[in-house]
Amino acid sequence: MRKIAVLTSGGDAPGMNAAIRAVTRYAIEQGLEIYGVERGYTGLINNKIFQMNRRSVSDIIQRGGTILKTSRCEEFIQKDYRQIAAENLEAYGIEGLVVIGGDGSFRGAKDLFVDFGVKTIGIPGTIDNDLSYTDFTLGFDTTVNTVLSAINNLRDTMTSHDRVCIIEVMGRKCGDIALYAGIGGGAESILVPELPFDEKELVRKIKTNQRIGKTSDIIVLAEGVCKAEALKQKLKDGGVTGSIKTTTLGYIQRGGTPSMQDRLLAAEFGIRAVNLLIEGKGGRVVGIRNNQIVDDDISEALAMPRKFNEELYKYALTLGK
Ligand code: ADP
Repeated sequence: MRKIAVLTSGGDAPGMNAAIRAVTRYAIEQGLEIYGVERGYTGLINNKIFQMNRRSVSDIIQRGGTILKTSRCEEFIQKDYRQIAAENLEAYGIEGLVVIGGDGSFRGAKDLFVDFGVKTIGIPGTIDNDLSYTDFTLGFDTTVNTVLSAINNLRDTMTSHDRVCIIEVMGRKCGDIALYAGIGGGAESILVPELPFDEKELVRKIKTNQRIGKTSDIIVLAEGVCKAEALKQKLKDGGVTGSIKTTTLGYIQRGGTPSMQDRLLAAEFGIRAVNLLIEGKGGRVVGIRNNQIVDDDISEALAMPRKFNEELYKYALTLGK
């Protein structure tokens, strides 16, 4: 293999730039030509493909977002459009493609490999940590640290007024951001989409916390459960007295300079991805399990059932009492 390309697709995540940099520089070091594709699968279809050099990725390791831009590309679901993408790559003589993205982007990478033989390698880049085959995805650690910093700030003001605070964080189907930020921030309650929540029990807990003299009560709420304002109303209807404040963190969770962990993952994932292509492999994804960088068949990785760390969840609540 002489020529490979890299793209970012789907939701952006801090650390994507660091991964683009790692893939680009390691590929060049290994004697490959490396091409960037603009705006994910949209650029692949529209032939927005350009050669990169070491300087193309200067000064980006510390930046959130993605210099290659990203997109959601409806057409790519259709085989006809994927064929155009494959032909565009072929015209450049590009045989390998590194796709940095989430679950949806990986499905596209799988189809491109299965239908047209493009050797795709997926790097998990998503803040949600919702890919089962890997313990962590690129961007998750940075996002959790952003949420932690918000919890710290909110705790200061809530403690001064003896208030209950509901903090709504991202996570429509996956509660990992809420869980990890909750345990790290010492939250009293964590509500996640994976587990049912008992309104009466939550009201009882808040009242108990008030009685035993807790000066603040932080509830970390994953957006997939309900909106913060809706939960506030439920608590009030359930009989919680006193001030309840809500904060929805929103898009600040997506941006920001990547943490050390995400930069390290970006480097390790990027190097493994290029090495797999050099070995002539495709249709695989890289990840990390038990602190080891791993790679798996993309179809098998996508088929793995989601698992939520209920043990960690129980510990988080024990420590928050
Ligand atoms: P993420 O990669 O962050 O999960 P999306 O789910 O929006 O983001 O997926 C990103 C892109 O991947 C989509 O816009 C589409 O181009 C492509 N994609 C998603 N699902 C499929 C699929 N089943 N088959 C082919 N391509 C897909």
